[in-house]
Amino acid sequence: MPTGQPFTVLCQTLTRPRYFGRVDLHMHTTFSDGVYTPAQIVDLAQRSGLSAMAITDHDTLTGIAPTRKVATSLEVVSGVEITSEFRGKELHLLGYFFDPVDAPLNDALAHLRSERVGRFHEMVERLRGLGVTIEAAAVAQLGELTTLGRPHLAELIVQAKKASTVREAFQRYLGDRGRATVPKTRLPVAEAIALVRGANGVASWAHPIYDCTKEILRELHGLGLGAVEAEYPTIRQSRRKELRHWAKDIGLAITGGSDCHGPGQPHRSVGASSITHQELQTLREMI
Ligand code: AMP
Ligand code: ZN
Ligand code: FE
Ligand code: FE
Repeated sequence: MPTGQPFTVLCQTLTRPRYFGRVDLHMHTTFSDGVYTPAQIVDLAQRSGLSAMAITDHDTLTGIAPTRKVATSLEVVSGVEITSEFRGKELHLLGYFFDPVDAPLNDALAHLRSERVGRFHEMVERLRGLGVTIEAAAVAQLGELTTLGRPHLAELIVQAKKASTVREAFQRYLGDRGRATVPKTRLPVAEAIALVRGANGVASWAHPIYDCTKEILRELHGLGLGAVEAEYPTIRQSRRKELRHWAKDIGLAITGGSDCHGPGQPHRSVGASSITHQELQTLREMI
């Protein structure tokens, strides 16, 4: 908080960066389907005034160490977004504060990534059957350090000139029920929660779908869920209030973040959704 003469306080307030002191716990880097490198995203986070952040790449912890290495003025909380499943539907499970070198967690994520590689090749085959040829060299170039997903394949479809934009590639081939889409391997949510907790972390439900009820949250809390994401770019005000209310009743903490994937979506830019430092402390106490 600025202190001093009223005019000084006013100047300090006006020149404060946009998200001063706030916390963004949901971002992606080039280690999954984000566009920014860890160094680029840390630069954006520090310039926007965030006091803490977490990289939550899909099914990988590879971005955490390089992020910590370049961060100077903010805390980097360990983070991950695990592809999991609850009652037959995909559920994105966020993990925070865990030990990044925990072996069971790393092994389980390595398995999910290798399944994604197999899925990627299967989708390339399906595309071939549809007259879209993706060069093997282009696939190889994506590297071993990246969690492969449909956005990477959409880019290759654009490069192959079979769609003019990523959006069109999804519309033509890669939507949830798309002609070339192959489902992902998902961890049962109980397993994913147990892995995060086993690594001394806390688990949170990312962008909960609108059929998430208080009873479901209670059930997941029974499985060890520690928090729910109640701040994200597309959430409605009424829903935000409802989730916060339920969380309080059940004894869950709150998480929140931008889900930034790059510069293409301004409403999901670094810091665009966030929680307070006090809320981060409450989350930390759930470990
Ligand atoms: P995957 O994890 O491989 O199933 O890919 C899921 C990701 O694809 C999502 O996180 C989105 O970033 C992206 N995505 C899904 N549907 C679309 C769409 N219709 N247009 C653009 N991107 C999409
Ligand atoms: Zn993503
Ligand atoms: Fe997600
Ligand atoms: Fe995400």
